[in-house]
Amino acid sequence: MIRTEQSHAKYELARKYLAGGVASSLRASMKPVPIYVQSAEGARIRDVDGNEYIDYMLAYGPLILGHAHDELTTAIHQAMRKGYTYGLQHEGEIGLARLLTELLPCAEKVALSGSGTEAVMLALRLARAYTGKRKIVRFHGHYHGWSDSIFTSFPGAGLQGNDERAATSVLPGTSGQSAGSLEDVILLPWNDPIALESALRAYSGEIAALISEPVMCNSGCILPKPGYMELMQRLTKELGIVWILDEVITGFRLSIGGAHQRFGLDPDLVTIGKAMGGGIAISAVAGKATIMNLIDEGTVSHLGTLNGNCVSTAAAIATIGELVKDHGSAYTRMERLFTVLASGIRELLNKHGLPGLINQTGPVFHMMFTDEQEVTDFAAFNNRDGAKYTRFAEVMLSEGVLIRPNGLWYISTVHDDKDVQETLHAVDRSLAKLVD
Ligand code: PMP
Repeated sequence: MIRTEQSHAKYELARKYLAGGVASSLRASMKPVPIYVQSAEGARIRDVDGNEYIDYMLAYGPLILGHAHDELTTAIHQAMRKGYTYGLQHEGEIGLARLLTELLPCAEKVALSGSGTEAVMLALRLARAYTGKRKIVRFHGHYHGWSDSIFTSFPGAGLQGNDERAATSVLPGTSGQSAGSLEDVILLPWNDPIALESALRAYSGEIAALISEPVMCNSGCILPKPGYMELMQRLTKELGIVWILDEVITGFRLSIGGAHQRFGLDPDLVTIGKAMGGGIAISAVAGKATIMNLIDEGTVSHLGTLNGNCVSTAAAIATIGELVKDHGSAYTRMERLFTVLASGIRELLNKHGLPGLINQTGPVFHMMFTDEQEVTDFAAFNNRDGAKYTRFAEVMLSEGVLIRPNGLWYISTVHDDKDVQETLHAVDRSLAKLVD
């Protein structure tokens, strides 16, 4: 067992003052207790009880350069010395917007905001304004932030993943969501081309946008079937529907140009966040000028006190600067290391006779305990043994590795072979304990 007295004590104290005891609801699910951090550097994180972990949670994705990265820290300090935010214009916002238009194939224009949730809100608003239509098509198991008009059906958000209601109806993700907020949402199974085509054709006169994660990272890291994204692209173009790829996870993680570059897709809009800022709050909507120009024309409002602030834009420019070095060789390295790690874990699952699998897409993978031979849709994903995985994550902590209790692993540019080998030993010992 790890020492957790200090984390326990701080969590007790936090619960007196901080609603929920944590700053974002999901964090409360960590077992044996939400861990309190002392400091973090590179691929390692230390807690207040003196435990050290190799970190594959990476703050739910943003820390693509790891913790306290030198260049990023310096860029932030330099920016701060000139003032943190002005509520006025500055070169950093132009520099970042220009960089994004150069690097993201679909980006002709860009709008900046603070979180993935806000970027999705803006993208949906742009789509509705552009088409003059109301309905939004989204998919089971995808997550697009927690705003009222889109927050539904995500396992962990009020419903458990194995609760079949999560897979069958458009239910609010939380109590307190405004009544009718999901009235315009059409919820479809993902990776089902027939369901997609028939729904889009049936409702085309009312649909403003189709929004999808390009890889279903939030539920099993499931790749689209061959031709599925191309079908989305073809149908949305034919039917005049705005196609939004939610690249909040995949942007700057699957490649410099995100998933749409990696897979050669041409979405109308993308939302990006997380990895773009390296751990500092920033997000963006990027896409076709014909749609983005609604902001120029004043038709669509895009607001936010801290949008495009100097610290966030400097952090994003520095993070992207690190990622593009040596023609993006960091991506090849991250992918190689994660492939070694994923295949090592698969062998260990076999060795311990534990049925399970890993779905990997480059520098992100999902590990699950399941009897399924493959997991290619949300229904199959829901057959996993989530409780066993949560136990595994807890045991891994005691072996010095921090992973999310839900199965999604991220890697950063500063993880190395030694980290991976150490992690495989930890997995070996943890699986042995699970079997006991
Ligand atoms: N879209 C996707 C695909 C996400 O994974 C997330 C966050 N996990 C969001 C949107 C919301 O981003 P944020 O938490 O920054 O609001």
